[in-house]
This record gives sequence, C-alpha cells and structure tokens, in this order.
Amino acid sequence: RAISAAPLSHHEEAMERALRPKLLQEYVGQAKAREQLEIFIGAARKRGEALDHVLLFGPPGLGKTTLSHIIAAELGVNLRQTSGPVLEKPKDLAALLTNLEANDVLFIDEIHRLSPVVEEILYPALEDYQIDIMIGEGPAARSIKLDLQPFTLVGATTRAGMLTNPLRDRFGIVARLEFYTAEELARIVVRSAGLLGVPIDSEGGWEIARRSRGTPRIANRLLRRVRDYADVKGDGRITQDIANRALAMLDVDPQGFDIMDRKLLEAVIHRFDGGPVGLDNIAASIGEEAGTIEDVIEPYLIQQGYLQRTPRGRIATKAAYLHLGMMPPALPDA
Ligand code: ATP
Repeated sequence: RAISAAPLSHHEEAMERALRPKLLQEYVGQAKAREQLEIFIGAARKRGEALDHVLLFGPPGLGKTTLSHIIAAELGVNLRQTSGPVLEKPKDLAALLTNLEANDVLFIDEIHRLSPVVEEILYPALEDYQIDIMIGEGPAARSIKLDLQPFTLVGATTRAGMLTNPLRDRFGIVARLEFYTAEELARIVVRSAGLLGVPIDSEGGWEIARRSRGTPRIANRLLRRVRDYADVKGDGRITQDIANRALAMLDVDPQGFDIMDRKLLEAVIHRFDGGPVGLDNIAASIGEEAGTIEDVIEPYLIQQGYLQRTPRGRIATKAAYLHLGMMPPALPDA
C-alpha cells in the first residue's frame, strides 16, 4: 500500500507518541490555527473557564491529535480521547461526559462518524453542560437531566463538510489545518531525528521534507525508513545522497508522490482521457475506496496543482502529464 494511506502499526503509534510536540511553542507551522488557539487558551486560563469547543479539520496526519493533546496541556487539564465510530450507544458517551472534571478536554476523532443517536445527546452537553438520560425500561422509563462539569470538546475530522449543521454550529473555534511547507517539514524532520538520535545533515533533512506530501506523519515515517537504509547501506548518517537512494527504493518519486498518487494520475490520463471523471470510476479503476481517495490521496494532488476537482469530475492538469513524462493536450494551467 501507499505510504500515505497505510494504517499505523502498534510500533509506529508508540513512535508517533514519542515524537509528538507537547506544547504550542514546539508545534511547527499552522501559524493561523496556533495564533487563534494561543489567544483563546490564554483567555480561558485567565478566567478559569472551559475553552470554547474546537473543531479541527484537514487531511490525515497533519497534527489534529497532536494539537488536541497540546490544547489540554496548555490549559492544564485532563484529556479524554475517543472516536466517532467507537461511541456506539448514547450511554458510551454519557459515561465519558459524566466523568469529566471541570474544564477538561474531550477529544473525539472522526467526529463525522458519530451515530445520530449519540450526536443527539451531545447537543445539550455542548450547549448547557447537561445531558438527558433514560432511567428504567418500558412504561416505567423516564428521562432525567444530569448536570456536567464545564468542558471543552475538541472534534477532529478530515472533512468539515461531512458534519451535520447543528453539530458544526456548536463549535466556537474552527481551525483548518493546511499542508506544511517543505521548510516546516524540514524543521520537523530535524527535530524528530534529534529525538531518535539519528545523525542527519540539513540537505538530508530537506530531501525527506520536500518529498513528504506536506504531511508530518509521512515525514516521520520516511525518516525512520531512511534511517534503516542509512544504517545498512551507509554509516548511519542521513545525507542527501542516502535520502535520495532510500526514497527511490521506497518508490517515493522526486515530487514526493507515492505509488497510489501515480496510479491515480495514470488512471485519469490513460483510462479516462485526462477527465473529467467521477470519483467512483477512479476508485473502481485503481482498486481503492472512494473515501480514501477523497480524504488521503487527492487533497495533496489538488493542492499541488496536478488534479482539479470540477462539478463534472476530476481532471488531470498539464503538470500531471508532464510529471508522467507525457505531452499534455491543450489544457488549462495548473
Ligand atoms: P489523523 O487524521 O490520523 O488523526 P492527525 O492529524 O491527528 O492524524 P497526528 O497524529 O497529530 O495527526 O500527527 C502525526 C505525527 O506528526 C505525530 O507523530 C507528530 O509527531 C507529527 N506532527 C504533527 N503535527 C506536527 C507539528 N505541527 N509539529 C511537529 N510534529 C508534528
């Protein structure tokens, strides 16, 4: 599978935790989100109140989970973590909510996947710090109101558009995470290398950074694989030459695209004449789920100007043809 879309192993998860910045100051990039949060967290702390609810959205691996941990740490409160699909029943969420202490952070990843019945009990919790729960069964059943401690919900989603309107409206702070620049990723790579005790020079760090699809998770993944390569094929130091050779072996091309990126561009160009072609047709053609294409693969291709999303479907741009070594037909510029 593509490096970007592969699920995390246990080992990788532990590694990610170890590399996670703990404070806002160490969090590289995302200047806009960081500035907003700095101010609102400062104000909440000063008043001793719960921070307003926060919605973080953006492609996977850009640092939503990291940011939620940082928010709790900066507020000096506990973080409880769960995810949309895990909360199957209203009572699962009620148990979490009633156990929160004053001003705690509840982080719900993949919040767009909450079931409607669970979402329903979240509304009064977010608005009035109250929940309605059912006691007893059958004709004797009755609903009682429970007061909760004030808390902050941090919700994360890959696409804000997938949230229901009533849920989206209840977030006071909405931050969109953007792809990172190569400079920012280079700082992350060098920082991670320092934490892992891997010798790296700035050209080596830069080579990994600019081929990481704008994504810190991928940068850290590539760093670990390049380190393996450097240990076996070199003297352990990551230089530009070592990084280049390792990344070529990993099928990460000079633009940072992996196999799935290229497969997608090739499919659009070869099988669908460059588009426009619908998402489902692309999915069937490359054997990947439409959701994965939309969340994981295409956002970076679109941001980099290799693919366009139009109402009639996806279109390969001139840059896509050139990248695959083909002559582009007369096409709009990227
Ligand atoms: P998902 O969508 O899968 O939940 P995510 O957006 O929550 O992903 P994280 O798990 O927070 O992503 O981040 C992935 C890795 O990238 C973490 O290990 C972290 O070390 C690193 N990382 C993310 N953002 C930053 C950043 N701004 N500065 C430094 N490292 C970062």
